[in-house]
Amino acid sequence: MSSAYDAIIIGAGIVGCSSAFQLAKRGLKVALIDKGNIGAGSTGKSSAVIRQHYSNELTARMALHSLRVFQNFEAQVGGECGFAQRGFVTMVAAKDQAGLEANVNLQQKVGVRTELLSSEALKEIMPGVEIGDLVRVAYEPESGYADPYLTVNAYANAARRHGVSVYLNTEVTDVHFEGDRVVGVETSGGRLDAPLVLNSAGAWGARVAAMVGVEVPIKACRVQVTFFRRPQGYEAPHPVVADFIHATYFRPETGGLTLVGLVDPSEADAVVDPDGYDERADFDFVVDAGERFICRYPPMEHSESTGGYASHYGVTPDWHPIVDEVPAGSGFYICAGFSGHGFKLGPAVGLMVADMLTGEGAPEFDPHLFRFGRYAEDEPVRGQYDYSIIG
Ligand SMILES: Cc1cc2nc3c(=O)[nH]c(=O)nc-3n(C[C@H](O)[C@H](O)[C@H](O)COP(=O)(O)OP(=O)(O)OC[C@H]3O[C@@H](n4cnc5c(N)ncnc54)[C@H](O)[C@@H]3O)c2cc1C
Repeated sequence: MSSAYDAIIIGAGIVGCSSAFQLAKRGLKVALIDKGNIGAGSTGKSSAVIRQHYSNELTARMALHSLRVFQNFEAQVGGECGFAQRGFVTMVAAKDQAGLEANVNLQQKVGVRTELLSSEALKEIMPGVEIGDLVRVAYEPESGYADPYLTVNAYANAARRHGVSVYLNTEVTDVHFEGDRVVGVETSGGRLDAPLVLNSAGAWGARVAAMVGVEVPIKACRVQVTFFRRPQGYEAPHPVVADFIHATYFRPETGGLTLVGLVDPSEADAVVDPDGYDERADFDFVVDAGERFICRYPPMEHSESTGGYASHYGVTPDWHPIVDEVPAGSGFYICAGFSGHGFKLGPAVGLMVADMLTGEGAPEFDPHLFRFGRYAEDEPVRGQYDYSIIG
């Protein structure tokens, strides 16, 4: 191992790979380390829905910036991300109409193409959908989903092309300090030195932070997705849907399948060891998610279940990441805890991290909202609406 770097990044998910790419583009000598492979954590198992529906200006801007990257991925990163622009539908109960309208206004102000849609207009876009009178709908024609595995590997390859050294199957076991400043890390393959270290270890973020004596509230929570083969007459891909009435989301998957998952805060109760949990989908989950899905999209009653899998989110108390230097002035940074919605923000997060580590005075995306101290200050990130945990 060549041991002296400007920055060491722990974790090669979307956050670590995008950050490595951006830092290397600014001329830093970077080491990117993962105890497994590229995308071995949440990223490789992500549903990778790319939507703009956020209720804070910062996250809406980050989502929009990232969408533009996904749309022009070959030119901006290189390689493929598998972006499929299918449109994104948000459905809320009529009682949440005011919140939905406020969000759509905010998103339009930052430049997102989004609009409220009538039931009739939605049925034209998505024949067979059941929405009734008590549902309100917003629609983003430019959103969709990507292939998370292709995306994260494309970022890793782009980072390599800019000179980043990638150490796989290499676990960081300790972080070295001299006085108050970080000087490097110990790994299963030896020591590496750098004056800047980024903890982008996702659901393992709390374990890595504990190496420097900092306790961060990030839990690994088991989540599941399941698949259904769309029946005859409905083979064509449909838009991506987030249905906050049934607390589900669904999107087309390759092979004529539809992927179904939950947007349910109770998923934070399923705390697991991220290194050891049942990665098969539970039978009860498949039945429950299937029933919710069919309520919204009745033609799917004739679909065939094709199983599913379990993975994990790294969840914080307010479902938003911690992006900060902790301890302050140490050169040790954290960017983790994206709580089930970090994939789509990945391109913008890389810029946020690069600005933070290089001390950019006027960052494009100021991480202040995600500061670690917000929990002690009782200032968690709050959504502007009640209908969801998604930001
Ligand atoms: C089923 C599912 C569906 C999702 N759907 C969406 C979605 O539709 N849209 C969306 O935007 N987001 C979605 N997400 C969330 C999104 O995928 C995550 O927020 C994002 O991938 C987190 O990326 P990360 O880089 O922070 O963490 P990870 O991808 O988990 O990467 C962390 C890496 O750190 C490594 N690591 C840990 N400890 C060490 C150590 N000591 N030494 C070295 N390496 C270490 C791990 O091996 C891992 O590769 C979903 C996630 C899941 C699981």
